[in-house]
Amino acid sequence: MEFDLIAKYFTRTTPDAVLGVGDDCALLAPTPGMQLAVSSDMLLEGRHFSPQDSPAGIGHKSLAVNLSDLAAMGATPRWATLSIALPEVNDAWLTAFARGFFRMADLHGIELVGGDTTRGALTLSITVMGEVPPGQALRRDGAQAGDDIWVSGVLGSAAMALAYRQGRLFMEQIDAAKVLPALYLPMPRVELGIALRGIAHSAIDISDGLLGDLGHILERSQVGATLEFAALPTHPVVQGYLHEAVARDCILAGGDDYELCFTAPASQRDAVLAAAASVDTAVTRVGCITAESGLTVMDADGQPMSIEHTGYNHFAAES
Ligand code: ADP
Ligand code: MG
Repeated sequence: MEFDLIAKYFTRTTPDAVLGVGDDCALLAPTPGMQLAVSSDMLLEGRHFSPQDSPAGIGHKSLAVNLSDLAAMGATPRWATLSIALPEVNDAWLTAFARGFFRMADLHGIELVGGDTTRGALTLSITVMGEVPPGQALRRDGAQAGDDIWVSGVLGSAAMALAYRQGRLFMEQIDAAKVLPALYLPMPRVELGIALRGIAHSAIDISDGLLGDLGHILERSQVGATLEFAALPTHPVVQGYLHEAVARDCILAGGDDYELCFTAPASQRDAVLAAAASVDTAVTRVGCITAESGLTVMDADGQPMSIEHTGYNHFAAES
């Protein structure tokens, strides 16, 4: 039964692998001279998605969040494995899930080469492998005092959508419809990460909120930062709710953006903009790295804002 399931839903031709799904191991031939970037992310029903969510969306997002880690490293996606626990074999669910998963895979040229399948509470664990030239990975520990801080796309839309879905924020339905895709169908910034090789000093993907994730760069690089709140790029819908504290929290500390936050020397401003333009991605300069530790967010009047939320902590008491 399980072999049928794997054959039916998860086996496709894998021209980029020596051997794909079906044997005890996949066989992969990395490009000579490249380094492998490897990352895993787990998604649990009830925590990362809810039972009512569309299976195609779950397929899309489960791979997208993993690809986002490759993007943050500047790695070119190559191979993935998918381990999945399923409470039952539901043909409609699996068909739609596989459709969403492989659509995202095809978009970024990553091949599913193996995994594991078992019965249990719906759980997804994906491992992605990518390649990056030696010394060019965008690491968290490379930020330097004086670097500009940049973010891609817009911030806070996914968290706003989640706040709306959870009833913590009232939004007009027409507005909500414009931010919900950010929550359910995030687009990893894979091409931008690759374009920033050799330009950015450090990078991270924003999965747990800007402040928390930038905080990881600061910690690993042993530097501090100043951000300009007014410079943070947001969707026009989000701008309409800025008078709400929830909206401001979503921009600074909301999760699920899957944008890149990166630092680069001021001398590379034109290079950053050219790299971003070459992959049709908006990037915005939002602050700078300081030698003194600590993270300060300035309001529009140049006054430090008081910051209560510094990012979603998976082990904090659930609110
Ligand atoms: P084993 O008992 O040797 O671990 P499995 O029965 O778990 O073998 O898997 C058989 C083959 O199917 C292996 O190549 C494995 O990588 C692949 N596979 C299992 N589950 C999945 C999945 N969900 N997606 C992709 N490949 C899978
Ligand atoms: Mg197995």
